[in-house]
Amino acid sequence: MSLNISAVLEQLEGVRKSTNGYMACCPAHDDRNPSLSIREGDNDGILVHCFAGCLEEEICRAINISKADLMPPSPPRRKNHQLIAKTSNSSLPRTVMYSHSPKK
Ligand SMILES: [Zn+2]
Repeated sequence: MSLNISAVLEQLEGVRKSTNGYMACCPAHDDRNPSLSIREGDNDGILVHCFAGCLEEEICRAINISKADLMPPSPPRRKNHQLIAKTSNSSLPRTVMYSHSPKK
């Protein structure tokens, strides 16, 4: 289940258009100067990012949506991750594992 970006924007205060998406007041902290960036991802997902450092979970909870609502209709396949998990206990150099692991 995926939300339209305008449905998300409706929940937010101080929405304004920015270069490649929208800015709004972050619902997860006391935000007076819009620090939440909202934009559509390449795969129809919605990307939210608070420059004050709020987690996506916190933002979603604050506007009563689930994190899954921001995901694209059909989640990207996780082939690569499984591959890494499988090979991580083999003799691959550590640098290979680390280069794939950061999510943020
Ligand atoms: Zn925030």
